[in-house]
Amino acid sequence: RGGATEGFLNIVFRTRPLIEGAFREGIDEEYHLAVTDNDLAVYETDNIFNPRQTRVQRQIEVGSRTWNVSVTPTMQLVDSQASIADELILVVGLILSTATAFLIRLTMTRQQALRESEERFRRAERITKAAHWETDAGMKTLMHSSDNVVTVFGLPPEYYLGDLSIFEKDIFPEDLQRIRKVFDALPSNPHPYQVDFRYQREDNRQVWIRETGEPVYDAAGVLTGFRGTSQDVTTLKEAEEAVRIALVDAEEANQAKSEFLATMSHEFRTPLNAILGFSEMMRAQYFGPLGNVNYQEYANDIYHSGEHMLALVNDILDIAAIEAGKRSIVKEAVDVDDLLQGCARKLEQTAKDRGVELTLEVPGESLTLYADKRSAIQVLLNLLSNAIKFTRQGGTVMVSAMALDQKVIITVQDTGVGIPPDRLSNITEPFSQRHVDPAIAQEGTGLGLSIVKGIVEAHDGELSIESEVGRGTIVIVTFPGQGTMIR
Ligand code: ADP
Repeated sequence: RGGATEGFLNIVFRTRPLIEGAFREGIDEEYHLAVTDNDLAVYETDNIFNPRQTRVQRQIEVGSRTWNVSVTPTMQLVDSQASIADELILVVGLILSTATAFLIRLTMTRQQALRESEERFRRAERITKAAHWETDAGMKTLMHSSDNVVTVFGLPPEYYLGDLSIFEKDIFPEDLQRIRKVFDALPSNPHPYQVDFRYQREDNRQVWIRETGEPVYDAAGVLTGFRGTSQDVTTLKEAEEAVRIALVDAEEANQAKSEFLATMSHEFRTPLNAILGFSEMMRAQYFGPLGNVNYQEYANDIYHSGEHMLALVNDILDIAAIEAGKRSIVKEAVDVDDLLQGCARKLEQTAKDRGVELTLEVPGESLTLYADKRSAIQVLLNLLSNAIKFTRQGGTVMVSAMALDQKVIITVQDTGVGIPPDRLSNITEPFSQRHVDPAIAQEGTGLGLSIVKGIVEAHDGELSIESEVGRGTIVIVTFPGQGTMIR
């Protein structure tokens, strides 16, 4: 009364029958129910709920209290509702998600490979200073160009795309006419092509460009355009030019050397003739005795040295003339038998003096070769005297000839000291005389085989040498022949 508390009314009731009476029967098999009054459990079914299932919660006013009621589906209910369709969806879902993951991975891997391949391609274009492009079928429009066009021509692709004539103002006029002819003819007569031209870049650099292209056709065989590459080949062109200049210089230097040798040898011959003539007179004591025996010996030495020098000078003159292409070669029919007999006769005595047997083997038919007679004799005398010179006493030298396919093959074979393999490869080089036996080597000039080679080549013939140290040497010379005549 008057708002003052007079006492407490305490109502005690049992919640369980009250709550269970409110629900339909068997609900506790399907749902887990819990009622709490603040944190104090008022009621809870003793079935098991799935903690991952959605829990529904409501608040109910009971008298002056607020109860929290929560309802969660039991494991039993979830199991009974899970149908085969769910399982199917689950399986399909699983497969789909795996397949999607696989496809995503595959796509990513391919994209990565593509990116790497494009990067490699870009790098290759950068290194080789090349760009690739595509034009229309009329060769009038640039449809596509790779980024590296900037390295080759100086500006990015956007600048060049479209009308191809944009290039023309920067191509050297001397080259433009030439390549225009090629490009104009391509649409009507498509074929792979390559042109080189000089180009003035925006940055004022002048470069050489090599353009290589080919026609492109569709499935029906209709020409759809051209594609190809443009490459900056300035370094290559400069190297080629340097080689060309070096070659011209080398040829000029060689020519100068030959002319110098020819002049020098010629100038040597006049005093040499005097030396030879006067020493010969002294040796023969033409105008009376020399007075001292030593003088006689000196006169002999002067004469032999002069002879050697004259041989050297003559050989140098020969080489110089051959190298300068100034040796006159007047070809005529030469009887091979006469040639071999004549040369053998000239060296017969030398062979005899050295105790070397010189034999001749000619076929039963008359052979004719077509050569400058003086040169052919010089070749044979050279080869025969070498063979005799490098064959020791008791050995043999054999010269033979045969015809083969309108050619005459002459062979000079000896059983002499032979040539070591390391010298054989350059034995025909001038002054390749480095014989083991200095006494023998002194007799030559080291120019004989060079002259032989030069003469044979001037006749479009061939020279080949085979040799084995200690067993001997075979020199084979091929001259153009005039066919054979039966005797
Ligand atoms: P050379 O005037 O010295 O004979 P060549 O050019 O004719 O000059 O020969 C060069 C060198 O080749 C000789 O010095 C010799 O060493 C070697 N040679 C040439 N022919 C023969 C041969 N038939 N047998 C062995 N060696 C040879």
